Parts: sequence; C-alpha cells; structure tokens
Amino acid sequence: MHTTHARPSTASPSDPLRVALWLAAQGYAVHPLAPGLKVPVRGCARCSPGTADHPNPSYVEHDGHACPCHADGHACHGVLAAATDADRITEWWTRTPAAGVGVAAGPSGLVILDVDTHGGEVPSDPERLLPGVELPDDLAPGSVLDGRDVLALLVEARRAPLPGCVPETLTVRTPSGGVHYWFRAPAGTQWRPQAGALGWQLDVRAGSSYAVAPGTVTRAGAYTALGDCRTVAELPVWLARDLDRTGHRVRPERPRITLPWRSRGMGGGYVAAAVGAELRAVAEAQPGTRNDALNRAAFNLGTLCGAGRLDRAQVADVLADAARHAGLPSREAEAAIRSGLAAGERHPRALTEAAA
Ligand SMILES: [Zn+2]
Ligand SMILES: [Zn+2]
Repeated sequence: MHTTHARPSTASPSDPLRVALWLAAQGYAVHPLAPGLKVPVRGCARCSPGTADHPNPSYVEHDGHACPCHADGHACHGVLAAATDADRITEWWTRTPAAGVGVAAGPSGLVILDVDTHGGEVPSDPERLLPGVELPDDLAPGSVLDGRDVLALLVEARRAPLPGCVPETLTVRTPSGGVHYWFRAPAGTQWRPQAGALGWQLDVRAGSSYAVAPGTVTRAGAYTALGDCRTVAELPVWLARDLDRTGHRVRPERPRITLPWRSRGMGGGYVAAAVGAELRAVAEAQPGTRNDALNRAAFNLGTLCGAGRLDRAQVADVLADAARHAGLPSREAEAAIRSGLAAGERHPRALTEAAA
C-alpha cells in the first residue's frame, strides 16, 4: 500500500482539505459533506430536490449519473460527484473549508465494515444475530450488547484474527462509538451495501454508499482513526466469503454470446441447435468446469463432423471463440478442441430423418 503519503495529523483533525487530498492521492474518490453533518453538501438549485417538508421549487428532475454539473466541477448529487482530481478537490474545499470528507466506496474500490454500537434490544433469534452462523452453545445471556460483540462471535466462528485489537487496516471510530473497518475490494470484485445482512448491527458500505473520512468533525463529534494504521488492507478472505454468502457480492451477469454459426453456414435445424447449445455451454461455463465443458462440446460436435454434417475447421474455429469467451488459455483450448473433435469423429452420430 501507499505508506509514503503524508498522514493527516491527528493534531489538526479540522483540516478536511488535507485529508481529502491525502485520500485522493491514494485513489479514493471523495466528495464534500455539509459542514457539521454527515450528509453531502447540497448541489446547485437545479440538482437539489430538497426535502419532503421543504421541496426545492427550482429542482429539475434528472438522472444524477448523467448530470452536466459533474463536468462543470459542481459537487451535485452527493456520492455521484466523488472525485480524485486534486484541482477539483482543492476548489471544493476552498469554497467550503469546513465541509467534511465523504469517501465514495464503490469508485474507491472500498468495502467498509460498519460496526454499530446502538445498544437496543438484542435479537433472541440466533438467525437474526448472525444469519447462517452456528453460535456457541454456551453463549451467556447478556454477553452480546452491540455490533462489536456480534463481530467478535463471527471472528471466533471463523477462527480469524480479530480486527480491531491491533488494527491491521485503517479503522475509524464514529462519534456514536461505532467502528468502521476499511478494506480494499479484491481485484475484479464488486460489492453492494446492506444494513444488518451480515449480522445484527453489522452494516456494509460499498458500491454507491459512502463513509465519513477520519478527521471529519460533525456536530455529533469527530471521526477518528484508531491506532497507528493508516493503510487499507485487502478484504480478508474469510470476511469476503461471509459477505458473499450474505448477498453483498455483485456478480455481473455474463453477457450472452452472439453465436456466429448461422452466418458461417453451419447448418440449420437440429445441427444448428446442437452447435448453439454446445457453444453456449462452453462460453458460460464457470471456472472449474470450463475444461470439461470444452472437452464434451468438442466430442459432441466431432460426432456431427464424423457424420458429415459439419465442417471440422469451422467447428474448431467457433469452439475456440467460445473457449476464449469463457477465459480459457488459448493453447490449452486448442489442444482440447483438436483431440475432442478427433475422438468425436471416430463415433459419427447417426441422425434420424427428422433430425437431419
Ligand atoms: Zn448541479
Ligand atoms: Zn444534476
């Protein structure tokens, strides 16, 4: 991680510009918060709907993602305005020096575990305390008071090192006594925010949500970095697994491949359908099953080549496309296709009249 950047001094927690620039230099996208509050600054008149009690008459309904204010450097639409550009950030905080610093989780590649300490009635149902996790039989009544205890139970169940004893990652205490553990999302992964899905009083900031940066002071108090650690560690594997299990992981749908076989004159009817199904099975196979899917498809289509229904070179070509789409290394894929087709050809498929 980037340990060379100047740390925000704990002696001057009220210098939000310095904190914002420090975060942006590490690639974290920041946006200004209304002075004294933990909500984003209001955008321009056109972009701020106002509240239910005080609707803004100048507001023009529009999609904040595509708002021209972003290009103009205005801090409209809260987290959607988040930026890493030093000039823009300097301008924002020069205009509003007391603005707090929000950090947009998704654009920053962050997953922030938000451990609450609200107190309140502890759920008696273990499934509401830590869904899907077996709790110790000897759990003493009254031993769980807030999110910190729930996290401790999860950590114990996973036999993981307790984050927070000695913070191994940037850890921020909130004015209400809650704790935010900042983690980097593993490369190529996306996460969504949820409240309480991991466990009671265990929220997750990710995706389109944001966290208040250490050094920000609100009317409720200061957000302070705990301990000495000012670097952000990668999301631990055990926690990533639990976040995945509890629905925080965003899995992009694999795009349906467009199949080139029809335009390449690879038959119609039954044969075309067989080619399409085999290519799809390869292209959409998950890691771990991709090699099997490719071997099977090459063999199956090889039987049609053997029966004279398909051209072997064309089939090898489209199978290679599908294998590439699935992410298989091309040299391995070519070898599998060659041997699969050859084996299939030795068992030509007898087609019925209807299928032919
Ligand atoms: Zn605007
Ligand atoms: Zn706008």
